[in-house]
Amino acid sequence: MVDSALRVASCDRCANPAILHQRYSGRHYCQLHLNDSIRRRVSKELRKQLDLPSRLPTASQPHRILVAISGGKDSAVLLEMLVRLLGPRRDVELIAGSVDEIIEGYRSPSLECAKELADTLGVRWEQISYTDIGFIGMDELVSKIPQIGENVAQTKGMLPCSWCGVFRRQGLNALAKRVGADWMALGHNLDDMAQTVLMNMQKGDIERVIRLAPHGGSPVEGLVPRIVPLRWIPEQEVHAYAIGADLPFHHSDCPHVEGALRQRHREVVAKMEQDVPGTRHGLVHAMDSIKELYQSVQPTEGAAGQLKKARKCVRCSEVTSQELCQACQMRDWIILSEEE
Ligand code: SF4
Repeated sequence: MVDSALRVASCDRCANPAILHQRYSGRHYCQLHLNDSIRRRVSKELRKQLDLPSRLPTASQPHRILVAISGGKDSAVLLEMLVRLLGPRRDVELIAGSVDEIIEGYRSPSLECAKELADTLGVRWEQISYTDIGFIGMDELVSKIPQIGENVAQTKGMLPCSWCGVFRRQGLNALAKRVGADWMALGHNLDDMAQTVLMNMQKGDIERVIRLAPHGGSPVEGLVPRIVPLRWIPEQEVHAYAIGADLPFHHSDCPHVEGALRQRHREVVAKMEQDVPGTRHGLVHAMDSIKELYQSVQPTEGAAGQLKKARKCVRCSEVTSQELCQACQMRDWIILSEEE
């Protein structure tokens, strides 16, 4: 007699053994049919998010999409998928770009994977580092955080990721400008998206929820519109796809991640998904509903409830809601603490 606990479920589409059980749908998939299902979901989502005008930006240049790749599994799957889906189109050019945060032992191996992937797929690869855009590397910043906190009251209690998130956004914007991108593709999976929605809701920051990618139907003035084609694919499925497709990717934890708020949201979302399958989808659907609702009742100019108007930073011209953008503010704080 075979112990039922030892019996491997078979794929719902064929007789092969399943490698993954989708708790939120009840389905079992073998590698082949999981890949097939992921490709179909991504392709459908891409068609919704990427509304390319039939006219090219210039007669000689196709629509240019900067694909942000970090060397991790998510962006590796994103690039492979976009090459598969958009590669044959002559009116689209994909360029891969990576940001180097300068974190010893963590970023270099992932940048090597990013380059290897881009080379294998025949995609041009660009990189930019925090020092290229006038910041300091994260390792150096982390060693200075206590001193900055002592000298600049506003930074007290700020964790490394709060700085890094702002610097990275600046790096990606600079890369987009350098390559003349019309769109930017990010590798956020379903878990990332659900955590981000929860984080912003918890802070009561509905403005931020409204501005989250994808930006197809709701562009943010002055910003290259972002697409997030993997946003309905759970992290576990992205991981399985990356392994099945034998993509080069690096996996290790950043040494500066400790204490990051996102870690707590990761645990909360994972626990909720475990107890109530479908929680992640629910959170992302909630974001879409809030965006749709906002678009349908766009308040008139100046009325209460209207989003803060996007402005240009007086110093660097990046999009901001303040006079000085957060990145320039942070640069000042670092300089200020060095002068004290
Ligand atoms: Fe930057 Fe934090 Fe990510 Fe490390 S974990 S790379 S510090 S955002």
